Amino acid sequence: MPYAYDDQNIFAKILRGEIPNNTVLETDHSLAFRDIAPQAPDHVLVIPKGPYMSYDHFATAASDAEIVDYTRAVGKVCEMLGVAPGNGFRLIANAGEHGVQEVPHLHVHILAGKNMGPMVSV
Ligand code: 5GP
Repeated sequence: MPYAYDDQNIFAKILRGEIPNNTVLETDHSLAFRDIAPQAPDHVLVIPKGPYMSYDHFATAASDAEIVDYTRAVGKVCEMLGVAPGNGFRLIANAGEHGVQEVPHLHVHILAGKNMGPMVSV
């Protein structure tokens, strides 16, 4: 099934400046901002600026420049938060229905500032 990006999703609106965000870092191809409903003392979302729905979509369709920029942005945010090296963090990328992805624009969650407990609870 082809990827069908919905440009009305909330993160597309954030990228267009239609909705405010608490920016942590902006690079050529990526934006990092604080989650509106944080589940840890530090809860930052990192998104690519391009129209990618999920990690797999990005990994298969994005340019090398976008992938390098995005990966470096994640590293930079961890450095800015002081969690790596440090007390560590959890990195989560939900995808699709079974991954329980709420917003269909790729984002990784960086969760830090407390022990995040078991990896998965159902
Ligand atoms: P998902 O379940 O798709 O992996 O996570 C989506 C995340 O986006 C949730 O943690 C939710 O709190 C966050 N979120 C939803 N709407 C907004 C918004 O308008 N602004 C920000 N900063 N975060 C949002």
